[in-house]
Formats: sequence, structure tokens, C-alpha cells
Amino acid sequence: MTLTQTGDSDVCERCSLQGPTCCRITSGQEEFCFPLSRIEKERIQEHVPFVGGFVLSSNTKAFVDNVCRLFPGEEKLVRELFPEGNDHFRLAVDTLGACRFLGPEGCEIPQEARPYYCRLFPFWMAGCEVTHFDSPSCLARREGQTLTRILKCLDMNRATVKDLYGRLRLIWGLPPRKGACKVEKGF
Ligand code: SF4
Ligand code: SF4
Repeated sequence: MTLTQTGDSDVCERCSLQGPTCCRITSGQEEFCFPLSRIEKERIQEHVPFVGGFVLSSNTKAFVDNVCRLFPGEEKLVRELFPEGNDHFRLAVDTLGACRFLGPEGCEIPQEARPYYCRLFPFWMAGCEVTHFDSPSCLARREGQTLTRILKCLDMNRATVKDLYGRLRLIWGLPPRKGACKVEKGF
């Protein structure tokens, strides 16, 4: 599942000229799109009243397994939050796999109202450590190569990633992480 921000940083603009970017998904892989919480969906609708930007998807086994992989050690809770057979909202994509909010100038949703997953990509947390997905299609990852340089490419820092990840957890229904992680103040 790779869908995210385009048009904000220089590297994302260049990425959009070269490849699929994280705002597109391979046709047939839609069930691997990240889930959207109700609050995120409503916040987007306030900013971009856009008919058809969301779709209700089944919690298939492949979808649930994929979310479980994002939260190792918390699989039981994830399966309770996304019971198989129930539904969740996700971003809708067109027939070519592009997010319906992807316009000619990039994402049409203001940065602060975008889904947390979009705002985080390609970053994630492994325990208390900031990490990044090994996404071959992400130009920032290819050019940056190291975490510090990828963060810099995307005008991000560790503290921002931790903050966004913490917010994503809460909004998806996961509790704050147990144990005290050291507070980061940028690079
Ligand atoms: S909401 Fe915006 S940033 Fe997220 S996938 Fe869609 S176009 Fe990309
Ligand atoms: S550089 Fe990475 S984060 Fe930026 S648009 Fe491309 S895939 Fe997304």
C-alpha cells in the first residue's frame, strides 16, 4: 500500500514526474490501502467537499494481515479493531489507481487535513525508533538513502514523525505506546 503526498516538497514534485508516487496504487491492490478513521474522513470532507473520494471496503484477511504488519506485537488488538467481515473506509482511487484527491498540482487536501498515514509516508515507527518503509518507488528514499537524509529531503524530523505516528495510533483506535520514548527535538 503506497499512497501519499505529492506536490509539497521538491522531491515529491520530481517524484510525480518520474513514477507512480505514493498517491497511486497498482490496480488490484486496493485492499492494501490504509484505513481512514471517521475523524480523518470528516476532516477531509470539511476542507474538500468531494463526492466519491472515499470507498467502503471489507476487512478482508489480506487487509487485516497488512495492518497487523504495521503494528508488530499488537496483532490481537488490530484484529479486534478491524474484525474480518466488517468494513472500513479508505481513499477511493480511479481506474488507473490514482487517489481521487490527487489533482494536477498534487494533493488537493490541505496538508494539515490529510490522512495521518499520508503525512507520515514513507516514515513509520519501530518501537521508539523512527524508521522508513523500504519503498522502491519513493524518490526521497532512493535519493536520501539514510533516514536522516530522507527526513531532510521531505522537510521532516524525528519529532514530527513521532507526533504524527502517535496521533495516527489514537485515531485508528490504538492506545498510546507503553513505556517512555525519549523525546526528540528535531535532528
Ligand atoms: S489524500 Fe492526498 S496525499 Fe493522500 S494519497 Fe490522496 S492525493 Fe496523496
Ligand atoms: S518522494 Fe516519496 S513521499 Fe514523495 S511523492 Fe514520491 S513516493 Fe511519495
